[in-house]
Amino acid sequence: MAGNRCRKRATPAGAPVMVEVTFMEPFEYIKPSSPAEASAILAAEGSAARILQGGTDLIIRMRGDFIHPKIVVDLKGLPGMRDVAFNPDDGLILGAAVTMNEVATHPAILAHYRMLADACETVGSYQLRNRATIGGNVCNASPAGDSIPALLCYDATAVIYNPAGERRLPLFDFFRGPGKTDLKPGEFLQALELPASPAGAVGIYNKLGRTKVGDIAVIGVGVLGWPQRSNPSGSAWRIALASVGPTPLLAPTAEALLAQETDDLAVDAAAAAVMNACRPIDDVRASGAYRQAMVRVLARRAIEAVLAHLPF
Ligand SMILES: Cc1cc2nc3c(=O)[nH]c(=O)nc-3n(C[C@H](O)[C@H](O)[C@H](O)COP(=O)(O)OP(=O)(O)OC[C@H]3O[C@@H](n4cnc5c(N)ncnc54)[C@H](O)[C@@H]3O)c2cc1C
Repeated sequence: MAGNRCRKRATPAGAPVMVEVTFMEPFEYIKPSSPAEASAILAAEGSAARILQGGTDLIIRMRGDFIHPKIVVDLKGLPGMRDVAFNPDDGLILGAAVTMNEVATHPAILAHYRMLADACETVGSYQLRNRATIGGNVCNASPAGDSIPALLCYDATAVIYNPAGERRLPLFDFFRGPGKTDLKPGEFLQALELPASPAGAVGIYNKLGRTKVGDIAVIGVGVLGWPQRSNPSGSAWRIALASVGPTPLLAPTAEALLAQETDDLAVDAAAAAVMNACRPIDDVRASGAYRQAMVRVLARRAIEAVLAHLPF
């Protein structure tokens, strides 16, 4: 299979822009029918094979000349990969190939994991979200992946297919660096499992992009709060961040502060603690200093919004 690729050539000022049309490197497309078959291909081919789901990250990188897989392995047809299962006691199982639009509009996700639905709805455009999948967002392992803070707040587990048997990993440990995951040769993400969300939980995802919609996050802040009588503040908290470090981050100091107290001073201190948890870099989207300053603002707004809606 091959597709055309255009590349702009540098031209002197005022001269017509030259566009060179080349072709994506040919590759073999395989759609395995069982997890074992998929795993065997991935194990045998190593880095020559790449997994495809929606392709909204993979194909961009192939067309951009960054990667040249010989084999593209489409996992969307494997059993369970497109399934969403919810049970109020056990929680939610999301097949890795469930699309962003399916997550954003699923009634059980809207009712019980609202922050995840909201976060997925911020990804790109409506058309993109019809192809882009939750598993692709996670496995792409971009620190800016919008679904990830919400998945971390809801304590997601990665369910990984391994030829020797299923492997489960807390999602936080899945990320090993920008674009790097804990997946071993022959492994792939099958599903994400979220436990039942805490009773009365309220979640907010605050995203800052260069444009109001359709842009990758300059910063993403997910805040989940829920009533917890055993804590001095009467509440418990989980805070997770995108685009402010080499991997998605948590903010445990801020969570602990809010478990103690939620008055104005405590909220200020928690927002500062979120800022201090960050390790942002300068890149094309923003400077590290801007990210550091803005994450404090977004964290404060998200905490206040959660507090305003907590049922106590
Ligand atoms: C115009 C545009 C706008 C975008 N805006 C956003 C945005 O606002 N927010 C955001 O977070 N992202 C955004 N993205 C990035 C992208 O759309 C998302 O990351 C999307 O969720 C990727 O899912 P996919 O199914 O298309 O992944 P694919 O491109 O199919 O795969 C992504 C990566 O994960 C690997 N992979 C896929 N599935 C598995 C699996 N089951 N097991 C192991 N590895 C796997 C692939 O090999 C590849 O390396 C945007 C992309 C574009 C092109």
